[in-house]
Amino acid sequence: MHPSRFETRRCPALRPPVALLLAILLVAATVGGCRSGDPPAPARPDVLLITLDTLRADHTSAYGYARPTTPRLEEVARDGVRFATAYAPMPTTLPSHASLMTGLLPRALGLPKNGVAFTHPTPTLAETLGTAGYRTAAFVSSFVLDRSFGLARGFATYDDHFERDACKSFGQQWEGFQLEGGFCRRGAATRVQAERWLEENGYVGGERAASRDGTRTPPPYFLWIHLFDPHDPYEPPAAEAELLPPLEKDPTDLQKQIAAYDGEIRYTDDQVGRLLDRLNTAGRLDDTLVIVVSDHGEGLMDHGWMHHGAMLYEEAVRIPFLVRWPARLPRGRVVEEPVQLADVVPTLHELLGLAPPAQAFDGVSLRDALEGTGTLDPQRPIFLQRRTYDREIELGLNVRGQKFAVRTGPWKYIEARTEKTQELYDLRTDPSELDDVLRTRKKDAKPPAEALHAWLARPVAAPPPGTVSEDAAKRLEALGYVE
Ligand SMILES: [Zn+2]
Repeated sequence: MHPSRFETRRCPALRPPVALLLAILLVAATVGGCRSGDPPAPARPDVLLITLDTLRADHTSAYGYARPTTPRLEEVARDGVRFATAYAPMPTTLPSHASLMTGLLPRALGLPKNGVAFTHPTPTLAETLGTAGYRTAAFVSSFVLDRSFGLARGFATYDDHFERDACKSFGQQWEGFQLEGGFCRRGAATRVQAERWLEENGYVGGERAASRDGTRTPPPYFLWIHLFDPHDPYEPPAAEAELLPPLEKDPTDLQKQIAAYDGEIRYTDDQVGRLLDRLNTAGRLDDTLVIVVSDHGEGLMDHGWMHHGAMLYEEAVRIPFLVRWPARLPRGRVVEEPVQLADVVPTLHELLGLAPPAQAFDGVSLRDALEGTGTLDPQRPIFLQRRTYDREIELGLNVRGQKFAVRTGPWKYIEARTEKTQELYDLRTDPSELDDVLRTRKKDAKPPAEALHAWLARPVAAPPPGTVSEDAAKRLEALGYVE
């Protein structure tokens, strides 16, 4: 454990009566952002958590994609730390976000798929930060994260309001289902609501805004903004569609779809940039701890599947993971060792000096890796899980039951007991997982298989029964989310 640098920024306790000492203390209190009468406490940054739905890492220029899909995320990476090998635990929105918010994996949380409400008693990040004095707010862009599914816990403000027809073609038909609308909203609408909250609470703009060293500074905020635009259907606004048209002269439908997906990413990146610009103009950005992640990737037919949920290949689970906090962290650092969304909460606990939780995390703190004072274990197993399917679904894929995987070192081992499949990939030589070497490398499959089986042998929380309202279940079913 490193001594917290924030210890040096604690407001000094006021001990009268020496006048000179008092004057010094008052100056120190002002400079440190503390007011006389405040209890001694570590100064903490604002925390901005940005989740970008359905954003696979290798389609962002911040992770080397050839097309300029994410110029603003490139800036975030340049100004901060980029985790080059980051995983979502499940390519499914709600369980993945719940893992991000708790430091536990979906299996430990008893969340097998969307539409099953998060009710695990472990504290959420919003609850922990709220207890630590943060003002908390969330602005989400999809009904999958509706408050009825549990992630609103701990947020003083939870904006999950979606007007009918405020989203792409979800309001009509999708996958053969007739939709009722009101399922999601565009990134700009979500961003504007978040900016309004920042204004109304005195963080940006207006007479009440104050810099972090002003005496009128409000308490630090924890703001979570979730943008849904890269999720299918891919219908980028005209500007982004024109900016990133298909490269091919006579594009196939798939090539058109991929270009449209890239356009949605560019649009989302622009929303992120606008929000960061707003904070920068208010003088708050560099003292804000910004975390940018995704909840899962997207198939794009790499393994015969266009979307997400059914498979655990890299395109479905590899995500961007960026951390920006120039006041504390190095700029331009890249961490290669595998990390996961469940690492975010333990990292924040250590970085912000929060009280340790009663329950152990599944994730680990990335603080030393972020600061460049230590390295992560490159062999650490990263466990992955597919959502549970009760019956076979689209494209004739056999997706019955559960599927699990583990990434450890260069190996990725995938196992589905109901489907009776096992696969092994060497990600060093086969990063696209096109050559299953299980039969020829049986010895190499043993350690990851054993690690996976040991993990599966651990006790697991049972999914809570009947926790979704009838209306919520109906709307989810219309989207094919609940079977
Ligand atoms: Zn999602």
